[in-house]
Amino acid sequence: MKETLFISDLHLSPERPERVELFLRFLGHRAQQAEALYILGDLFDAWIGDDNETAPIPTILTAMRTLKDSGCKLHIMQGNRDFLLGEVFAEKAAATLLSDPTLIDLYGTPTLLMHGDLLCTDDAAYQQFRQQIRSPTLIADFLSKPIPERVIVAKEMRKQSGDINAAKSGEIMDVNQKSVEEFMLDSGANLLIHGHTHRPDEHDIDLNGTHACRIVLADWCNDKGELLSVSREEISREMLSLS
Ligand code: MN
Repeated sequence: MKETLFISDLHLSPERPERVELFLRFLGHRAQQAEALYILGDLFDAWIGDDNETAPIPTILTAMRTLKDSGCKLHIMQGNRDFLLGEVFAEKAAATLLSDPTLIDLYGTPTLLMHGDLLCTDDAAYQQFRQQIRSPTLIADFLSKPIPERVIVAKEMRKQSGDINAAKSGEIMDVNQKSVEEFMLDSGANLLIHGHTHRPDEHDIDLNGTHACRIVLADWCNDKGELLSVSREEISREMLSLS
């Protein structure tokens, strides 16, 4: 049975060795049964540039290249935490870097893939910040700094965004229904798969009289993971754990 897997929001970091281990095991075993694996953003909790190869990045790259040898195609999308993940990393990982959004044909269903933060349009301050932080000048300036300095800047920014988000309501940080419908109508998709909100669920949508669906992927937490498996026959979720 042909099968495509989707995961997102692993938030891997050197401080979470068990989760890295779980991901490595996933790449080495379960993922190899699939014909494709899509990682829809926030694979890493922070990304300071493709030239940073501190642990556990080299081990992850090796496992990703091995996945390709098994016949499973790897596709990676940037998230808001790892939006600096670039072509250099993708090449080292033998992966394709996807733009956000990307439309694919999923066993006959036009499917839109997104990280999900673009859908959170109720949070105007975030959308503004998102645009500012992706300015090519700012990025070039950041990437020109020595790695230890980038680590400090990234930590500071993460702390700031954590403080700001803690003060926001849950509603404002979820997707905006109108934005969901606009993205789906513009692309002609009737299935949308995204992560980011950490609210795994399936939502039925009425797109101008046509039935559509939005699937939200689960984040990985407490050293447990979750994947979405899609084949022509069925869609299912699967838990992953080290034990
Ligand atoms: Mn995210």
